[in-house]
Amino acid sequence: MYRLAILSRILHMHEEVSSLKIPEICPYCGGKVIFTDSAVIYGKSYGMIYLCTNCNASVGVHKGTNRPKGTLANKILRLERKEAHRVFDALWQKWGISRSSAYEWLAGQMGLPKHRTHIAYFDVEQCGRVTAICREHDNDMEVA
Ligand SMILES: [Zn+2]
Repeated sequence: MYRLAILSRILHMHEEVSSLKIPEICPYCGGKVIFTDSAVIYGKSYGMIYLCTNCNASVGVHKGTNRPKGTLANKILRLERKEAHRVFDALWQKWGISRSSAYEWLAGQMGLPKHRTHIAYFDVEQCGRVTAICREHDNDMEVA
């Protein structure tokens, strides 16, 4: 039973990941997005990325695949996501709950289905909400 539950969770995660579309047009500037090696922007290769040839917005892929890890991000969004992650990770670690439970809680707070609740999918506005929600609940000791 337990194994089945884990297996179905893993399969479900894969579904969520593969449901992210391969980016072709940049959502920020309408530029053409190419699949290329990250060395073109970092000077050193960290794997393959999708890169906007116009504004350099980019997203990494799951190792050895062409599946994007999130949505295309420009510099500002990358900073916002980093900040949201920092605050969110600090919160669930402080509460001593799992990352998955924390995302479940966050989904409820944001009124989003759990499979859409990932900081890597969020835009600047949503990242701002994550940061605000986490700060607001910083002193809550338990999760409903
Ligand atoms: Zn662009």
